[in-house]
Amino acid sequence: MEKIHTTCVYCGCGCGLFLHVESGKVVGASPSSSHPLSQGRLCIKGWLGAEFVNHPDRLKTPLIRSGERLLKAEWDEVLSLITARFKEIKDRCGPDSIAILTSAKGTNEENYLLMKLARAGFGTNNVDHVARLCHAPTVAGLSYAFGSGAMTNPISSLAQADAILIVGSNTTEQHPLVAFHMLRGKARGAKIIAVDPRRTQIADLAELHLSPRLGTDIAWINCFLNVIIQEGLIDEEFISKRTTGFDEVREAVSKYTPEAAEKITGIPAHKLREAALAYGSADRAAIVYAMGITQHTTGTDNVQALANLALATGNVGMEGTGVYPLRGHQNVQGACDMGALPDLYSGYQRVAQAREKFEQAWSTPLPENPGLTALEMIDAAKEGRVKGLLVVGENPMMSYPDRNRVKQALETLEFLVVCDIFPTETTELADVVLPAASFAEKDGTFTSTERRIQLIRQALPPCGESRPEWVVVADLLSRFGVAADYRSPADVMEEIARVTPIYGGVSYDRLGTGGLQWPCPSKDHPGTGILHAEKFSVGLARFRPVEHKEPFEAPEEEFPLLLTTGRSLYHFHTGTMTRRTSLLDREVPGPYVEMNPEDAKKFGVRGGQKVVVESRRGQLYMDARLTLDVPKGTLFVPFHFSEACANVLTSQALDPKSKIPEFKVTAARVRRAD
Ligand code: SF4
Repeated sequence: MEKIHTTCVYCGCGCGLFLHVESGKVVGASPSSSHPLSQGRLCIKGWLGAEFVNHPDRLKTPLIRSGERLLKAEWDEVLSLITARFKEIKDRCGPDSIAILTSAKGTNEENYLLMKLARAGFGTNNVDHVARLCHAPTVAGLSYAFGSGAMTNPISSLAQADAILIVGSNTTEQHPLVAFHMLRGKARGAKIIAVDPRRTQIADLAELHLSPRLGTDIAWINCFLNVIIQEGLIDEEFISKRTTGFDEVREAVSKYTPEAAEKITGIPAHKLREAALAYGSADRAAIVYAMGITQHTTGTDNVQALANLALATGNVGMEGTGVYPLRGHQNVQGACDMGALPDLYSGYQRVAQAREKFEQAWSTPLPENPGLTALEMIDAAKEGRVKGLLVVGENPMMSYPDRNRVKQALETLEFLVVCDIFPTETTELADVVLPAASFAEKDGTFTSTERRIQLIRQALPPCGESRPEWVVVADLLSRFGVAADYRSPADVMEEIARVTPIYGGVSYDRLGTGGLQWPCPSKDHPGTGILHAEKFSVGLARFRPVEHKEPFEAPEEEFPLLLTTGRSLYHFHTGTMTRRTSLLDREVPGPYVEMNPEDAKKFGVRGGQKVVVESRRGQLYMDARLTLDVPKGTLFVPFHFSEACANVLTSQALDPKSKIPEFKVTAARVRRAD
């Protein structure tokens, strides 16, 4: 049995593991004891989650649509067809009638080549990916406040904190190895304050659990800062030497007294005060957050409110402090780093400022105007403005809000190409389907949520005729007249390092088994654990006042409940991989809605019964689970299950700053299915 060191393919923790290979098959996985983050541990997905690689459902040959059916085709035939159709659409309707959705599951090299294909090949900045649906507010909010949208400290730094404020993160289930480092902190005496409408496992382990009404985060965060100011717990020296704009924030938060915030959030005033003091009086305090705070119409303002709190207390730039946005996919950080975004090149270089530099590097003219974000592409497709779409490793039919609308948009396209490892709800609509190699069948790098760039290593040959995406995209680049003479992903990384200052010192020979944390600007640079230690990337960090705004939908007579979506420990994203892993699927085999027993009584529902959950956009059938962990008036639905896709129910209401949809608040109702 061979053991190949690689990086976990699921969450953003980026644990190191060995794939065990025997007779050409992955037969198991085990943890890497020398890995700096996981230190010999894996969660259940890491232990079991490579089984999908051998699943018989894998896409093994390219497919071309013929009427209702997708028929087998040769690679050269499909690549010629893709080139001809995209060129024809471009010539007829202009380059901005084509768009690319890249993949947070793909490697850095693949995301870099895809954004190059959009810009240098197609001539459009219409390139985006699933970060738009999870951490676009982090990129927008933290970039404004600190100058960088990334996690400020290594995850292990949480073990040195004296207080940890966890917001909208079901950490033990979604980022178990982050939770491990938090619990190391707790064992040292750190106070854990969890803020989440649901009583999650980490909320149970916390000293304090606050359960706000959905969509009211700014009110309680501003209240925390108000209490901290009133109690004289702000760090005056840090504020005056390293920040700007505090006076406006001081003024704005003054009306968010605990009593006023209680009226908005439903959290008792005394608990707000107690939690604010626990964070504000700690020597070293950290803030950890996830999609519970970003997936709102106020997502960017929510992130800014947390940044205000960290800055006012001087909790940035040191061990045990910091702000920790937890990225969901294993390489959503890397896809952002690689510029798979409509207004940024790799390394967060703005299109407006870096265009000439990339024109020289790629020897081709590049488009000027920023492109469409992911959901704007869907709208543009529905309206006929985008006519051709390349989707790589993404399943918008499951992961985007208001599924019926997404379906209409994809059906309106003239030409849809989807590249994936399994058939999905989106490949069903495609004109061409390309079979991709899995993470176990290619080399490359992923960048974890703590900015750690790590190798994945090929353990098996690609399944059937599937190919690594980087090979496919390099081929398309050549067919569009862009030089793409890469012999391996290491060659692509060499180019990334040349044009991307934060990756400037990265090369495969330096990554070993623990990787490097960016910024790593030169070959002799050791990488950077803690950001903003001496100076913020933006110079002086920026406070910005933010105000509470009600969510887009509120409970009303017809839809008296609020529905929120999330994940389960045993599944990942749209379930394409974990639902093909027998032990994970056995644990949670199907869709369910969690509801409070009082609501169940009111609506005549019993635990285990089939129910219908409805919103203004559609309805779903699933099992009812009754639990006191969900507050009265709230429904919780995990979004992994195609047979009850939660995004049939969610709305397309967007945060105007980051364009993220409000997945976390939907007016809904529930009734017995009979
Ligand atoms: Fe994989 Fe995340 Fe689990 Fe680590 S914590 S094993 S990266 S799913």
